Amino acid sequence: MSILAWIEDQRKLKILTAPKYNHPGSDGSQGLWTRCDYCGVILYIKHLKENKQVCLGCGAHLIMNSTERIRQLIDRGTWCPLNEAVSPCDPLEFYDLKQYRTRLEEGQKRTGLLDAIQTGTGMLHGIPVALGVMDFRFMGGSMGSVVGEKLTRLIEMATQEGMAVIIVCASGGARMQEGILSLMQMAKISAALHIHQAHAKLLYLAILTSPTTGGVTASFAMLGDLIIAEPKALIGFAGRRVIEQTLLEDLPENFQTSEYLLYHGLLDLIVPRSLLKEALREILTLYRDAPLRRPGALPYGLQGKLTPLQEERMRRTWDSTWPDLQEKFLSEFSRDPNAYKDLNRDATLAAAKGMTVRWAIKPTQ
Ligand SMILES: [Zn+2]
Repeated sequence: MSILAWIEDQRKLKILTAPKYNHPGSDGSQGLWTRCDYCGVILYIKHLKENKQVCLGCGAHLIMNSTERIRQLIDRGTWCPLNEAVSPCDPLEFYDLKQYRTRLEEGQKRTGLLDAIQTGTGMLHGIPVALGVMDFRFMGGSMGSVVGEKLTRLIEMATQEGMAVIIVCASGGARMQEGILSLMQMAKISAALHIHQAHAKLLYLAILTSPTTGGVTASFAMLGDLIIAEPKALIGFAGRRVIEQTLLEDLPENFQTSEYLLYHGLLDLIVPRSLLKEALREILTLYRDAPLRRPGALPYGLQGKLTPLQEERMRRTWDSTWPDLQEKFLSEFSRDPNAYKDLNRDATLAAAKGMTVRWAIKPTQ
């Protein structure tokens, strides 16, 4: 190492280890100033937000929270969140340095989210899409059962409605505090994606931001029809140190960066944040107008699932016809005890029309 390189290293080290001033939250949500984690430049948070959290000094793509990401990708006023009330629990009553429950509460307080993801539908330059955005601020964007469930529901909804799915990944991997419950989410999401892509022949785009590691990389992050990454993002499965110790050899400087992965064929595109929305529009338009695309079909069982909207419609139909039907049942039954055959027929008809049969009349004789 030359003396100049050493001085440069020392300077970087000094900048990066210095405390961030006027900066209580690590995400820059409070305070006026923050510092770039890559080059050490002090940044005015308002300017940083205007520049989509891209460092004005070195162009590094800093961590963006899920709300900002949705605002960046979805047309104003068209975002419609899904399953907002799904909240985590603590099935293993896990504790490491702190109770898992306490960690959850802290995360919820800090981010205003119930878990590390937001899902919903919206328009991207007028094209309807189902979007899932992970939030790294909530326990390192780790994938617990809520993240898995919300993503699976999003994908299934998109499969039913025939929409493309976009998932923005930012995660440290599966959530260890939920044990096997978090690991099984990998298979669950992958299965839902398989039906979406292979049977319904719909599009799924994965967007990998820094960092995307662990169980997320091992499941849905790498299953995209197109896998897009941000410049210089950290993407990998196991950590660098673990691999170095296992292989007992030094790894290249840019190991596990998106450029390295693109060169080795794991990614399809690297798109800077400022161009991401335009790039997605082009891909979605190209896919929609593709001349040789074949229509897909859903496997048996999935089509029959009711959406909340259909359920509500049925409930209202039932409620409006219910008094008449009840009147008919009771009057016929009181006149002739053998009329139950007709009643059963009526109940069958009602079921065929899509109404729920809440009770069955049994003859008393
Ligand atoms: Zn920078």
